[in-house]
Amino acid sequence: MEALGELYQQLIIEHSRSPRNYRPVAGANRSAEGVNPLCGDQITLELRLEGDRVADVGFQGSGCAISKASASLMTGAVRGKTAAEAERLFERFHAMVTSRADAPVADAELGKLAALAGVRAFPARVKCASLAWHTLHAALAGGGTVSTESSTE
Ligand code: ZN
Repeated sequence: MEALGELYQQLIIEHSRSPRNYRPVAGANRSAEGVNPLCGDQITLELRLEGDRVADVGFQGSGCAISKASASLMTGAVRGKTAAEAERLFERFHAMVTSRADAPVADAELGKLAALAGVRAFPARVKCASLAWHTLHAALAGGGTVSTESSTE
């Protein structure tokens, strides 16, 4: 199972065991819930927007290793960015995880997020990896609950 080895690479394991930004956010002014019923992943995302910038972001919840690692990496990637920059990163991430499994990942802007490219070989896992991003999108759009089963994923 070579592909599984690729999926659960070291960075993902490490982030799922010790997720970054796994905490409530002081002074949060945006939040959203995200659920992935197919896997049982659930996250609550909070962030504090200062002007148009994501000054702080954190998440809590439960789910599989991929969903936790993705939320950990996502929060690290968008902190300090403007809402528009964060949305653009979501588009790039989404393009990566929905591209052909054998396509090269040649997008330097993705940085550590490229570690999640392995999910491309496992269609059900794409939802685990995308959940945190859909939840971020919902939070930036005003909040609420988002489900991978009612999105266009
Ligand atoms: Zn999952």
